[in-house]
Amino acid sequence: MEKAFKITGEVMEKINRFAVQPLEEKDVFCFSLTLCDNDIDRDGERFSDEALDKLAKLFIGKTGIFDHDPKGEKQTARIFDTHIKSFDGRLTSDGKPYLALCASAYMVRTGANADLIKEISGGIKKEVSVSCAVARQICSVCGADRNKSACAHIKGRQYGEKLCYVTLDEPTDAYEWSFVAVPAQVNAGVTKHYDVRREESRTVSKLKGELSQAAKRLAAAYECVRGDVLRLSYFCEPFYSAQQVAKMTENMDILQLIELRAALEKQVQGTGDDDGESFITRLPDKDDNTDYTV
Ligand SMILES: [Zn+2]
Repeated sequence: MEKAFKITGEVMEKINRFAVQPLEEKDVFCFSLTLCDNDIDRDGERFSDEALDKLAKLFIGKTGIFDHDPKGEKQTARIFDTHIKSFDGRLTSDGKPYLALCASAYMVRTGANADLIKEISGGIKKEVSVSCAVARQICSVCGADRNKSACAHIKGRQYGEKLCYVTLDEPTDAYEWSFVAVPAQVNAGVTKHYDVRREESRTVSKLKGELSQAAKRLAAAYECVRGDVLRLSYFCEPFYSAQQVAKMTENMDILQLIELRAALEKQVQGTGDDDGESFITRLPDKDDNTDYTV
């Protein structure tokens, strides 16, 4: 997939934007590679066309790693240019025009990477892994954004006419790329690792905010119903002080309080059971929250 290409003055200009010391043509080795594409890969995922455009910008200047070296010496290359490549008439497995994100990278020639450069020139290195963060992961069946809420569909399964796959959209960052052994993307021989941790923590903090709002609303509703119970109990027999009623209702949840309020309202309106039993004697045991009826 990757191949060496001719270095022009324009290429050197682009490369030198990233070089600490100005480099000359003889100092560098350049090659092109495919980073990722918009086809559904072996993981049941694809990048949207818009995601490829965004990644094309994000990957410029990013470093790639060759960690094949048995001596553990990591060699690096840097992407200095990217472009989206379309292929006449070629379609993705779901029938969309096939697009690939291609990159040009350079390595500074050293004694240590001479063998690696030979390998790349000979086309031996094949697989690229990309690492990025995406803000949206859209289910093809129901349209749910899995970064925000899970859905029940399983990638790779057929639901009626629809195959379930996930579209990776709105990349927020590109981290690095590297040559690896096992490709995930069918066409490009590319694997990808995307990082959803930041998006997850955003989801968690959003949920925490919602939970805290819900807790506030519930507390306000609880106090409101408890106030009603205290007021209504004033008119019921036998009479208990506000403190006594407050003590008796302190372990009730809001549903029990609502039931009690309804019973008190009936008693006050004279429509309750006329069995002489007061509402207080029918309060639940402190430890028994089930089967509570007034
Ligand atoms: Zn779904």
